[in-house]
Amino acid sequence: MAWPGRFDFDGNMRTQVVIIGAGPAGLLLSHLLAADGVESVVLETRSREYVLARIRAGILEHSSVELLTDVGLGERLARESMPHRGIYLHTPEQRTHLDFVDLVGHGIHVYGQTDLTRDLVDARVRGGQQLVYEVTGTALHDIDTARPYVTFVDADGAARRIDADVVVGCDGSFGPSRQAVPDPRTWERTYPYAWLGVLADVAPSTDELIYAWHPDGFAMHSMRSAAVSRLYLQVPPGTDIAEWSDDRIWTALAARLGHGRDGWTLTPGPITEKSVLPMRGFVAAPMRHGRLFLAGDAAHIVPPTGAKGLNLAIADVARLAPALGALLRGDGALAAAYSDTALARVWRCQHFSWWMTTMLHVTDDPFDAQLQLAQLRWVASSEAGARGLAENYTGLPLR
Ligand SMILES: Cc1cc2nc3c(=O)[nH]c(=O)nc-3n(C[C@H](O)[C@H](O)[C@H](O)COP(=O)(O)OP(=O)(O)OC[C@H]3O[C@@H](n4cnc5c(N)ncnc54)[C@H](O)[C@@H]3O)c2cc1C
Repeated sequence: MAWPGRFDFDGNMRTQVVIIGAGPAGLLLSHLLAADGVESVVLETRSREYVLARIRAGILEHSSVELLTDVGLGERLARESMPHRGIYLHTPEQRTHLDFVDLVGHGIHVYGQTDLTRDLVDARVRGGQQLVYEVTGTALHDIDTARPYVTFVDADGAARRIDADVVVGCDGSFGPSRQAVPDPRTWERTYPYAWLGVLADVAPSTDELIYAWHPDGFAMHSMRSAAVSRLYLQVPPGTDIAEWSDDRIWTALAARLGHGRDGWTLTPGPITEKSVLPMRGFVAAPMRHGRLFLAGDAAHIVPPTGAKGLNLAIADVARLAPALGALLRGDGALAAAYSDTALARVWRCQHFSWWMTTMLHVTDDPFDAQLQLAQLRWVASSEAGARGLAENYTGLPLR
C-alpha cells in the first residue's frame, strides 16, 4: 500500500487531528474539519473493501439529513434515499400509521449506512484527505499533554508515529481509545433479547417501516432500496443462526408482521445476509480526557430499536468539529463543554431506545405484555403519545 502521508526521514508525520476509526463518526468528522480548514488523518484497522461493504444501520433522522446536505454530502442522498413520512405500529389488534410529517413537520430517510460510508469515503478521497487502512497495534500516547501522538503498524508492517494537536477516538465499542481514558464512569444495560437481521433481494412489502408487537416476539420490516428489504426478528440472546432456515425466518416474519390481515401481505424472497445482533445499552463518561475526545460508538451504544446509533455518531461529530476548530484557534470553551452537551443528547437517545425496546419486545412476564399493549394503544390513539414518539424518532435539532 502506498502511504499517503507526508513523512519526515523517520517515516513519521504530523497533523492537527488524528482520528482513529473510519466509521461514520470518524469519516464525517474528518469531512467537517476539512470544511473548517483543519487537517486530519483517519486511521482504520480494516481494509477499504471491508469498510465499504459493512452492513449496519439505515435510518437517518431529519436532522442528520439536514446536516449532511448542508456540508455537501446530500447529492446522492437526495437522489437515492427513500423519504418516509412515518412508521406503522402493528399489534394483533390494530395497525396504526403514525404520520411524523403531520405530527412534527418532518419525516426520516432510509439510506443504508453502507451508502453513507461510500459518500463519506468518496468525499475524503476527492478532498485529498488522508485515510489509512489496515493499520494494526494502534496506541495513544501523551493525551494529557498538548502534543499527543498515535503509533501504529501500517499495512506494509512498518512502525509509524503521527504527532498531533488532538486525537479523536471514533473506533467503535472495541477500539483502544476508550481504554485510554483513566477511570471512566460507565453505565450498561444488557437486554434479554437479540435481533436476527436479514437482507433479502425482494421489493419491500410496505411503503413505511413496520414495527410489530406480537406474542411470539418483536418483528420489523425495513428496507434498503426499492429492490432490497431489511427485516428483523426478536430472538433469544446467543441464538445460533444455523437454527434459522430461510423458511423458518419468512414464516415467523409473516406471523409476527400480520401477513393476510386487513389485506396486507408479506412477499418473501432470497435472503442474502443473516446475522444476530445483541441488544445493549452502554455509556462511558467523560467523552474527553485532555487532548483525547471520544465520539460515536466509542463512547456509547444503544439498542437498534430507536434507530439512534448512527444518528448519535453524526450528532457527536456535528458538535465536536466546531469545538475542535475553535480549540485549535485558541478558544477552548466549546471543547470544554463537549462531553456534557454530547452526553445530554446521548442519554435522551438512550432513554428513547430503551422506551421503544421495552415497549415492543416480548418477555416471559404476562403482566409486561399487558403494559406493552396499553402503551401501544396510547401511542396509537393519543396525539400527545404519537407526537412524543415522532419527535424522538425523527431527531431533536442538532444545535
Ligand atoms: C452489527 C451491527 C449492526 C447494527 N445495526 C444497526 C441498525 O440496524 N440500526 C442502527 O441504528 N444502528 C445499528 N448499528 C449501530 C451503528 O451502526 C453504529 O452506531 C454506528 O456505526 C456508529 O458509528 P461509529 O463511527 O461511531 O462506529 P463504527 O461504525 O463502529 O466505526 C468504528 C471504526 O473504527 C475502526 N476501528 C476499531 N478499532 C480500531 C483501531 N484499533 N484502529 C483503527 N481503527 C479501528 C472499526 O474498524 C470501524 O471502522 C449496528 C451496529 C453493529 C455493530
